[in-house]
Amino acid sequence: MGKKVLVTGGAGFIGSHIVDRLLNRSDMEKLIIVDNFWTGLKQNLTHIKDQRMHLETCDVENFQTSEKFDEIIHLASPASPPWYMREPVRTIKANLVGALNLIEMIQPGGRISFASTSEVYGDPLITPQPESYRGQVDCTGPRSSYDESKRCTESLLFEMRRTAGIDLRIVRLFNVYGPRTRPDDGRAVSNFLSQALTTGELTVYGDGLQSRSWGYVDDIVDALERYFWLDQIDYPGPLNVGNDREISVLDVAKFIADIVPGASIKMCPPIPQDPTNRRPDLTLCRQILPGWEAKISYEEGVRRTLEWFRDTLMSGASSDAP
Ligand code: NAD
Ligand code: UDP
Repeated sequence: MGKKVLVTGGAGFIGSHIVDRLLNRSDMEKLIIVDNFWTGLKQNLTHIKDQRMHLETCDVENFQTSEKFDEIIHLASPASPPWYMREPVRTIKANLVGALNLIEMIQPGGRISFASTSEVYGDPLITPQPESYRGQVDCTGPRSSYDESKRCTESLLFEMRRTAGIDLRIVRLFNVYGPRTRPDDGRAVSNFLSQALTTGELTVYGDGLQSRSWGYVDDIVDALERYFWLDQIDYPGPLNVGNDREISVLDVAKFIADIVPGASIKMCPPIPQDPTNRRPDLTLCRQILPGWEAKISYEEGVRRTLEWFRDTLMSGASSDAP
């Protein structure tokens, strides 16, 4: 008998890449995707013709089934600050209430994988950030619906591991970019690329000296593929995954303005409680996933993403969003 796998958020940016990788697995009998198309795009899945895949257009917190799954991968949640800040309650529901619903659907001893975030470190006081760092999060601040629902979901899943013996994999992703991000997603790389190709004005918030560590999606999904589905890994997480090259937001904007003719930078007011820096300590990641390294340079990753945005904006394909 093959595996029954449930993925939430499978129509999203990272989720759709995960779905492609899952469908390469010969041990997979049935793949259910639960997505409500809040931030996902239909076009991210239209290339798939595999009969093992079934799409349930539904909120993860309301999804119901009598089936039990061998593996559940919980990705449903917006990751973009403007999107989660616009609908904070809905964000908490997607992460936490979604996870509470999903734990009823796992086979005894089955595996739950969860995409947590570097946001659990808040505005960090140490750099790079190892998994042992407890973070600096404002639990009533403007980012808290996202940060705290990720933290609470980590807590819930760890308790389920302790009390019910689920096989757990929690990953803390640092900033990921690449093809299949919504052009109106609002995160830095995707925003700068779509702005460069449309208005020509790249909006840098604050002085732009705040920094992030930008991971190209293929590299990140290579790591997730190993961490989420290799049986021999005996580590529940949390595991940092990302690219540890840290680059300021202003440098990202300058690079994109240099490679897209006619683009220029517009300095804008800072956004409240914007973290000043983020860089993963990948020591543990390199131990748990020996041989894995981010291979795509930032410059190459941005050029590839630019080509994807050019094609997508020209074809108008992203307009199928609800
Ligand atoms: P995304 O917004 O592109 O994808 C999220 C998907 O979840 C979308 O398809 C959306 O429609 C779906 N969704 C949201 N709420 C839902 C709900 N209640 N029910 C069903 N579906 C719902 O985001 P992404 O960048 O692909 O991120 C995927 C996961 O990885 C998220 O959990 C995010 O928090 C986490 N993460 C991403 C990053 C990053 O840089 N991309 C960094 C850290 C963590
Ligand atoms: N940012 C910016 N202009 C934009 C979008 C983002 O200057 O159009 C900045 C944002 O203020 C933050 C950084 O880029 O300092 C990364 O933002 P993003 O939303 O990509 O990710 P996160 O803040 O969640 O790390």
